[in-house]
Amino acid sequence: MPMAHEYLDVLIVGAGLSGVGAGCHLETRCPGKSYAILEARASLGGTWDLFRYPGVRSDSDMYTLGYSFRPWKEAKAIADGPSILRYVKETARDYGVDGKIRTGHRVVGASWSSAEARWTVEVERTDTGETVHLTCGFLFMCTGYYRYDAGYSPDFPGTERFQGQIVHPQFWSDDVDHAGKRIVVVGSGATAVTLVPAMADTAKHVTMLQRSPSYVLSLPAEDPIANVVRRFLPPKLAYSIVRWKNVLVTMLVFQLSRRRPSAMKALIRKGVESRLPPGYDIDTHFKPRYNPWDQRMCLVPDGDLFEVLSDGSASIVTDTIDTFTETGLRLSSGEELEADLVVTATGLDLVPLGGMQLAVDGRDVELPKTMGYKGMMLSGVPNMAVSIGYTNASWTLKCDLTCEYVCRLLKHMDEHGYRQATPENNDPSVTEEPFIDFTSGYVLRAIDKFPRQGSKAPWRLYQNYARDIVALRHGKLEDGALVFSNRDAEAVATEPLAA
Ligand SMILES: Cc1cc2nc3c(=O)[nH]c(=O)nc-3n(C[C@H](O)[C@H](O)[C@H](O)COP(=O)(O)OP(=O)(O)OC[C@H]3O[C@@H](n4cnc5c(N)ncnc54)[C@H](O)[C@@H]3O)c2cc1C
Repeated sequence: MPMAHEYLDVLIVGAGLSGVGAGCHLETRCPGKSYAILEARASLGGTWDLFRYPGVRSDSDMYTLGYSFRPWKEAKAIADGPSILRYVKETARDYGVDGKIRTGHRVVGASWSSAEARWTVEVERTDTGETVHLTCGFLFMCTGYYRYDAGYSPDFPGTERFQGQIVHPQFWSDDVDHAGKRIVVVGSGATAVTLVPAMADTAKHVTMLQRSPSYVLSLPAEDPIANVVRRFLPPKLAYSIVRWKNVLVTMLVFQLSRRRPSAMKALIRKGVESRLPPGYDIDTHFKPRYNPWDQRMCLVPDGDLFEVLSDGSASIVTDTIDTFTETGLRLSSGEELEADLVVTATGLDLVPLGGMQLAVDGRDVELPKTMGYKGMMLSGVPNMAVSIGYTNASWTLKCDLTCEYVCRLLKHMDEHGYRQATPENNDPSVTEEPFIDFTSGYVLRAIDKFPRQGSKAPWRLYQNYARDIVALRHGKLEDGALVFSNRDAEAVATEPLAA
């Protein structure tokens, strides 16, 4: 007789912002469901526990990066990493989710059996090294979108002869000392623009070395409207009002960027000009070659980046690296940058589904051959949802909606006795497109490993919160594309075994 593995109604993979949120939704909307959250690392928090570099912070506001069900109460809208981690941990505790998290459990694969209407999940215990198996009726992937064991760094020539220290922000630890040092931060994304002002105070000098410029937008760290609204209204109402205000502003900026790129460019440039000294070479350092929102925009709180550029404690060089030398970097222009510490803020290495291999009825799932359904399930893959946030707005906005949808789906299946729900694309007029339409290097490097999206609903990823409210919160579950089946699946023991 085959060994019986522990069964749970839902297995959530990943205990970051998304996994904890998924647990909270299950607790409140599907209280009868058994579930566990499997987390590869030794603690919860994901991104907000991993990243420890100076100044680490959100680059969108916490009224929309926070959960819909739990108001963000701190003064700063653009919050530092430790505050966000605290918020995630407190939410997990308050909703009773922390007890469901099993740390040290890396999920390596999952195999669906239609005969049994369940997933068998293979887990590597990162603490003991043993392999364990669990089974579940629904798999909820909350694994984020990048590799935890490696960041992305190009192969720069000459690194072996450099006498200073090279650090990737993903692996920053307390023993990296930047005080009094000449620092070069390589990169121009969110991490670089965070690191530069955060280190400029104590460093001898910080140079941000960028291959090409990004759009940089200054926003108040504290939202004055939010602070007034919060003073006069109850927390939940105030949160909801400010959340909607920020959703609408973000959507407006995105739509304006896509429909009137020239107007948006002019607006951003005006903002930059107003914060830098007269004569600053904006064309070289702040005029990207692409349109706003063709790549993620960089947000700086209270113009902190512009401040350190203006007071001379930091500078920008726009050039490419020819080679590392013993004492720093030689650039393609011939210029030499002396450095004691080089921080390679060159990005993340994207990976879909936490690197897990899926199989359905004995056949391996090839992700690039699948198509995203409502941006949260995959064609041909039953009983599985993926919590993936927006690229043009806060991650959690979409994840909350995905959780609502999953809870609705689970209840619907229970009510009708369905044990299987599989997105099936039977519409020949739907054409394939890449999952994300950003032109950023980190997206282009990895996009071939990701599922595809379709040219129209429900296969299209609109990256639009208002539209997703209609589709995910109110949309019909039985829409023809999501196929419900397997009423007669072999009955197997569904009692949870001891962990
Ligand atoms: C520095 C930084 C700043 C950011 N700022 C913002 C921002 O301001 N706004 C915004 O919207 N987004 C931001 N993001 C994106 C950010 O990652 C998301 O907002 C959000 O934190 C993602 O949460 P998550 O739980 O989906 O993924 P993660 O935070 O990546 O957590 C995933 C968890 O799953 C675990 N896991 C992965 N694979 C497996 C597996 N196979 N088995 C078991 N466990 C697994 C990981 O260990 C991790 O704990 C930022 C990202 C970074 C790196």
